[in-house]
Amino acid sequence: IERTLSIIKPDATKRNLTGKINAKFEDAGLRIIAQKRIQLTKDQAGEFYAVHKERPFYDELCEFMASAPVVAQVLEGEGAIAKNREVMGATNPADAEAGTIRAEFAESVGENSVHGSDAPDTAADEIAYFFSGLELV
Ligand code: ATP
Ligand code: MG
Repeated sequence: IERTLSIIKPDATKRNLTGKINAKFEDAGLRIIAQKRIQLTKDQAGEFYAVHKERPFYDELCEFMASAPVVAQVLEGEGAIAKNREVMGATNPADAEAGTIRAEFAESVGENSVHGSDAPDTAADEIAYFFSGLELV
């Protein structure tokens, strides 16, 4: 059974969409096994998204992720990483399939409501960034 790191981003927490987004995960068979609301600093957001450091949108992305609280969560299920990304939809909401979180809720390619780990190694690193082993049951 697989685990992945999900973040409900500031645009969604500000619009009070945590419950509606969580319902999408649960309807898809993903179990929310850990969850906390936190305020990232810009530096912490930059550390989390370090892989995008050279991209033109990096600074904007870090500002955005620190602009309001986020909800960090661990989702568990069969093929959780791929399933979560399916439920999220494409990065740009204009390309996201109907019924996906980003199609329904995202405001733009940057303010796109959710993050999901993209592979087993990044999922393990990202889960460890936010949660201790004791918090994962
Ligand atoms: P995430 O990693 O957040 O789950 P993703 O894997 O679909 O999203 P990435 O290519 O990893 O997309 O980009 C990380 C994040 O950077 C995107 O979710 C989005 O918030 C932001 N981003 C990506 N492309 C752009 C862009 N062209 N302009 C502004 N922001 C962008
Ligand atoms: Mg990504």
